Amino acid sequence: FNVPTPHNEPVKSYAPGSPERKELQAKIQELRAQQIDVPMYIGSEEVRTGNKKPMSPPHDHQHILGYFHEGDASHVEQAINAALGAKHAWENMEWEQRAAIFLKAADLIAGPYRAKLNAATMLGQSKNAFQAEIDSACEIIDFLRFNVKYMTEIYQQQPPVSGNGVWNRVEQRPLEGFVFALTPFNFTAIAGNLPTSAAMMGNTVVWKPAYTQIYSANVLMEIFKEAGVPDGVINLVYVDGPTAGNIIFNHPDFAGIHFTGSTGVFQHIWKTIGENIYKYKSYPRIVGETGGKDFVIAHKSANPKAVAVGLSRGAFEYQGQKCSAASRAYIPSNLWEDVKKYLLEDLASMKMGGTEDFTNFINAVIDEKAFDKISRYIDNAKKAEGVEIIAGGNYDKSKGYFIEPTVIVTKDPMYTTMCEEIFGPVLTIYVYHENHFEEALELVDQTSPYALTGAVFSTDRYAIELATKKLRNAAGNFYINDKPTGAVVGQQPFGGARASGTNDKAGSMINLLRWVSPRTIKETF
Ligand code: GLU
Repeated sequence: FNVPTPHNEPVKSYAPGSPERKELQAKIQELRAQQIDVPMYIGSEEVRTGNKKPMSPPHDHQHILGYFHEGDASHVEQAINAALGAKHAWENMEWEQRAAIFLKAADLIAGPYRAKLNAATMLGQSKNAFQAEIDSACEIIDFLRFNVKYMTEIYQQQPPVSGNGVWNRVEQRPLEGFVFALTPFNFTAIAGNLPTSAAMMGNTVVWKPAYTQIYSANVLMEIFKEAGVPDGVINLVYVDGPTAGNIIFNHPDFAGIHFTGSTGVFQHIWKTIGENIYKYKSYPRIVGETGGKDFVIAHKSANPKAVAVGLSRGAFEYQGQKCSAASRAYIPSNLWEDVKKYLLEDLASMKMGGTEDFTNFINAVIDEKAFDKISRYIDNAKKAEGVEIIAGGNYDKSKGYFIEPTVIVTKDPMYTTMCEEIFGPVLTIYVYHENHFEEALELVDQTSPYALTGAVFSTDRYAIELATKKLRNAAGNFYINDKPTGAVVGQQPFGGARASGTNDKAGSMINLLRWVSPRTIKETF
């Protein structure tokens, strides 16, 4: 039994006048003209609590796209019960049947739902058409198809050795209990991947998305249902974090968490799980991708234009709201003037505004809280000594949460914005003496507790080798002569260590293996 060999979904260009652009623009208009009512999905029920919260485009916060129904502790309990209730039938379903459901979901997104999912991501999360196409449609299609491939490999692994009179086998059981998927706003694909990868392996799931992603989560749920995910297998709830956590992490059947979000929240969850460890039937699986303070280091041999493009794309795509975004750069003195010139040219060409206008490259940051936090870093930089803002620095939240792409140059390599995760369109650059590459590598390694992504630019093979060795533990995804964002499923398995996560590589067999608990069976004759 073989599944189709997956290929990465081709990215559509949305060129002016193309049919895909017309379709997407029409879908955006259609969604903008509606006010949808979004229930929670628990078992077979669509739950409307009447406690309605508005959803608005971050770039146009007075416009209402619809309302979602917020739940409370009782809904989390109901979702757990629905997950536990659906478990027996789901885990006993032939795995090929489960695979077929997720392959169908991928096909639905590739075809009839592509425009709707992209439009929802563009409106709800302020992501431009090209980023939405890559980070929502194509990436979730890839996650689903490649994960199905890894799933088949896990179920069809070579059995262990057997001998005379002995037959050994290994059964890949799902975890005992339910899985909790806690998902972020920044990638619709990640929001879709976290519940489905666990579900694929026979688990049932309680899924709590970030409130700022509910608008597109609702489209994902519609797709999962149409693909045939049975009631109760994925239960979608909107409940505030502490309330949900209090029910989930005290439950004896809590079997694992699949998380992407901030380091602080993940560490708090881990501690809570530790405190409750005696309550659980099994040691819960803790799988998380957390923060980053991702670096770009250029060697004196690098091509300055390549470095500048790596910085502008790596730091400012999706307003820097990627765990993988380039946010600190180390540039050698001999290249600095050229890198600066190209970077400023590139930034000058980036238009800022709403996602409805496809010529806007920079859109709004996700919400007011993020806006206030990011603008505070910029204000502090304006006042700090030895620090200069060479691009951007302005912000305005009157219509949407807009912050200009901002470049800070610091004389102090340990300045706050070189060390702390900002999660916004702010890049900080430190110019080092061109002959001190090795010392700069030390700085890169020691400046931040994170180790998610990083990039080295060089045309000198010895420098590339040195950086690769010295920065061995500084990034889970290390790029040579490319920006540190945009990992492609099936090509660059994604995840980091240190404070950046458990490094269970999203979209890989390593990740899927976390959602099974193998049973070894020995039979003697
Ligand atoms: N996988 C994404 C990338 O390579 C980043 C995911 C995230 O921001 O959590 O850019």
